[in-house]
Amino acid sequence: MDCIFCKIANKEMDSEIVYEDDNFIAFKDISPRAPIHVLIVPKKHIVSVNHLKEEHKELIGSMFLVAQKVVEQLGIRDKGYKLAFNVGKDGGQIVDHLHLHVLGGWKMKQEMDVQKMP
Ligand code: AMP
Ligand code: ZN
Repeated sequence: MDCIFCKIANKEMDSEIVYEDDNFIAFKDISPRAPIHVLIVPKKHIVSVNHLKEEHKELIGSMFLVAQKVVEQLGIRDKGYKLAFNVGKDGGQIVDHLHLHVLGGWKMKQEMDVQKMP
């Protein structure tokens, strides 16, 4: 299947992996829109939130627990972050393989900028 996220999950395409287990892979977004921008992707090919079925209930629940682990690992758990699913064309979904955007690190970056000032 010609799907970039399936290729990343199958290691046929490189990515900066930050977390992996049997069902999910999380990697850095190639064109980040926040200081920290990670995508959490189920290894199983599901197109979007619109395509979720009863059988995916457990997987989707686990996706949020993966998000917890990822934000903990990235050090933004307590600072705060945004989670987003883009769905369909008007929702800004470009890659038709379900993914959860994890966005954060803004304050951390400000702190870094302040540190850089003379
Ligand atoms: P969406 O617009 O919700 O479909 O998000 C797709 C995201 O995937 C965008 O933020 C892209 O920057 C990101 N993306 C596309 N190709 C890659 C890739 N090869 N590695 C990492 N992120 C990617
Ligand atoms: Zn796929």
